[in-house]
Amino acid sequence: MQRLADLWLGTDPAQRLRLRQTSLAMALMALCAPVMHYCVHIAQGERGAALWAWTVISVGGMAMFYACIRSGWSCRLTDPSLTQLQIAFAITSAAFGYALAGPMRGAVFPVLTLILMFGMFQLRPRAAFALSLFALMLFGTVMAVMAVRQPARYPPEVEVGHFLMLACMLPAVAVLTARMSSIRERLSRQRQELSRALAQLQVIATRDELTGLPNRRQMQALVDQELLRSLRHPHDFCIAVIDLDHFKHINDTHGHATGDLVLRRFAQAGQAALRATDVLARWGGEEFLVLLPDTGMPLALAGVERLREQIAALPFERPDGPPLALTVSIGLTGHRRGETLAQTLARADELLYEAKAQGRNRTCANPGEAPLA
Ligand code: GH3
Ligand code: MG
Ligand code: MG
Repeated sequence: MQRLADLWLGTDPAQRLRLRQTSLAMALMALCAPVMHYCVHIAQGERGAALWAWTVISVGGMAMFYACIRSGWSCRLTDPSLTQLQIAFAITSAAFGYALAGPMRGAVFPVLTLILMFGMFQLRPRAAFALSLFALMLFGTVMAVMAVRQPARYPPEVEVGHFLMLACMLPAVAVLTARMSSIRERLSRQRQELSRALAQLQVIATRDELTGLPNRRQMQALVDQELLRSLRHPHDFCIAVIDLDHFKHINDTHGHATGDLVLRRFAQAGQAALRATDVLARWGGEEFLVLLPDTGMPLALAGVERLREQIAALPFERPDGPPLALTVSIGLTGHRRGETLAQTLARADELLYEAKAQGRNRTCANPGEAPLA
């Protein structure tokens, strides 16, 4: 069933919507055709060539619209759904149906309303008014011609009544379409605003404002994910806590703004020093966390040592003075199977203290339970 639908409507969501609408219109036209034959048959007792021509052109025309959209040809047009053309075509078909239906012609009016209702979902107010006017003029012309040519079947006074009824009804349909169009526009604007706000919230909730790095909450989620992944498919991963050395001194001597600048530069340089799969996050203050997913100790140690050395060698440029030098201390540990994240973090913290105690600008690492490959 799904494959049949894919074959009929394609897989592109926008095209599917258009084709669904056109298929509905085509089905309605195909249903109207036998009803028209019935009406003509009971009125005249025979069905002439004009009725057959009407049937072939009306149903065939709708099939052509389907083919134009399904083949993708209509995508090059400003309105790929061909809504206006389809409605104009259906109005014309209804007007000729009116001329053929004789005494049963009143049945065409609800069909005309239905045709215009199709426009409510897509048309702009101006197009809706234009199509209503077109319908009124075309039906007026058909009524006048029929009243002149077949006054017995289409008495002029009856046709005037029909025309007046249409003249009252069609503007109302156009007004309703215009209202629908403004509701549609408001909804789409609200949806856009909502998705923009959602994207902004996403950034606020997951990024650290100062450095642009993942924040603590996001890092927590990423490490939790890695933990779950390692339970499902056992593999090693490591965590490093990085603390900037004597950062308070930078703040005290050069000001808080320079401190912020150093934090931002560290974030950039730190991220660049790591592999693309490693995640550097701001854990709080001047403390950062690195997650090295799917990584054993020797590789992890090489990675954080590269970061430490590059930071130590990096001149931290600033606008109001000579560049500053910065070093970092790192506690690095492998996650041990079965332990919680808090336990791994506590061990990394202890190793960081050790690195500070040993004189800073160094990494203290602990491989975890078994020697990691
Ligand atoms: P140690 O080598 O032992 O880590 O010394 P330290 O001076 O780096 O350690 P301490 O934890 O005493 O100082 C950290 C400082 O980081 C204190 C705090 O004011 C500063 N800090 C925390 N967050 C920010 C921030 O967002 N911007 C700036 N400029 N400073 C911050
Ligand atoms: Mg600190
Ligand atoms: Mg510090």
